[in-house]
Amino acid sequence: MHEKWGGVVPDIAMRAHKERIDDVIDEALNKAKVSMEDIYVVAVTYGPGLAIALGVGIDKAKELAHKHDKKLIAVNHMEGHIYSCFAQNSKGNPDIPFEFPYLVLLVSGSHTQLMVMKNHGSYQLLGETQDDAAGEALDKGARIIVGDMVYPGGPVIERLAQDGDPEWVRFPRPMERSQDYNFSFSGLKTALLYKHRALSEEERVNHMCDLAASYQQAVIDSLLYKVRSAVNKLKIRNVVVGGGVSINEELRKTLRTYMKSVDGEVLFPSQKELNGDNAAMIGVAAFYKAERGEFSEPELVEREARAKLMRSERIEA
Ligand code: ZN
Repeated sequence: MHEKWGGVVPDIAMRAHKERIDDVIDEALNKAKVSMEDIYVVAVTYGPGLAIALGVGIDKAKELAHKHDKKLIAVNHMEGHIYSCFAQNSKGNPDIPFEFPYLVLLVSGSHTQLMVMKNHGSYQLLGETQDDAAGEALDKGARIIVGDMVYPGGPVIERLAQDGDPEWVRFPRPMERSQDYNFSFSGLKTALLYKHRALSEEERVNHMCDLAASYQQAVIDSLLYKVRSAVNKLKIRNVVVGGGVSINEELRKTLRTYMKSVDGEVLFPSQKELNGDNAAMIGVAAFYKAERGEFSEPELVEREARAKLMRSERIEA
C-alpha cells in the first residue's frame, strides 16, 4: 500500500489500521495457540510514531484490557527496538544474558539515535540526528539514483551497492569532526543530488551501483564514527543495534568487524522480522516492565507522536 504511494499516507494508514487490527489480533492469538484468557498483560506502544496509527492501537489495547480484565503496559516504541535484540523464540533462543551497560544505536526511517542503556528501563541519550534519519537518507538517495517511486529505498541502495565501488565518489561525512554524538545526513543527500546532476545520462546508468555504494558507505561511516567515539570514550564493550536500517548487511559487517577489533560484541535482532517495526518488540519490552511491576493506568495512556525515551543530556564526544 505504501509502496504504491511512495510513502505513508496518514488517512490511508489510519483506515488500514482500523480495518485490520481485529483480524491481526485474532491471527496472532491463533498462531501462538493462546486465547485472551492466557494473556497476562496487554502491551501497546504510545509513541513515537504516526499519531493516528498510535491512536488505533491504544484504543484497541484499552478495550482488550478492559474487556478481559488484564493489566496494561504502555511501551515507548524506541525501547521496543532495543528489546528486539533480546527477543527469543518459543524455545528460549537465542539466550542472551544482559550485560549492562549497552551502547544503543537506533537507526530507522525516522530515527537515528545513540544512547547508553545503563540497566532495564534506564537510558541516557548521547546524540541524535540533527535533520534526516539514516533510513530517510537511504530512501531519498534511492529516489535520486533510481527514481521517484522507490519505497522503501534502503534495500534498493543495498542491492545496487553490492555491485558497486564504495570509493567511486568520496561523499562528505558531515559530522565526522563534530565534538558530540550527533548525526546529520541532509548535506550528504545534497552532495549526492549535485553529483547525480553533474553526470551524463550514460554515466548515471553505468555508475548506478558505484553511486549507491559510495553513498551507502558515507551513511555507514557516519554511523560508525560516532559508535567508535562512544565505545572509546565511554569504555563500553557491548553494542545493540535496532531499527529498520539494522537489517543492512554492510552496516552489520562494518560494526561486527569494528567491535571484534576492540574485543567487544554487537547484537542485532536475530530475525528479519524483528529489524523493522513489529509488535513482538513491544511485547518483549513489556515483559521486563511487568517484571518490575511497571503497569500503566489505562486512563493515563495517550498517544505521544513525539515521545522521548529519556531526557537529553549533552555529552561531549
Ligand atoms: Zn520503529
